[in-house]
Amino acid sequence: MEILLRNLTEDYVILLFDRIADTIDCCKCQQCRLDVCSYTLNRLAPKYVVSTQGELMSKLCEFDAQFETNVMTELTKAAAVIKKFPRHKLGEDGKPVNM
Ligand SMILES: [Zn+2]
Repeated sequence: MEILLRNLTEDYVILLFDRIADTIDCCKCQQCRLDVCSYTLNRLAPKYVVSTQGELMSKLCEFDAQFETNVMTELTKAAAVIKKFPRHKLGEDGKPVNM
């Protein structure tokens, strides 16, 4: 089985973004999604593990409640910034073209 080097914080931030994007009223196009996640990740400590693909999800469950709160706080801040200065291009229908 393939062994990978992964930053668990990255997986967790993306997972949590997809879960709360509607709640924090954030555009979910790929540009905004990645902008919000990179902004957030630059403000959190990375957590690298050597793991097989199958082990990743169970490792993600090991994060504690305090960490989840930190990620939520940073995601919310990031979403506010990206909302103010979105980099997505809008199509003729006024919706982001890369949804
Ligand atoms: Zn967008």
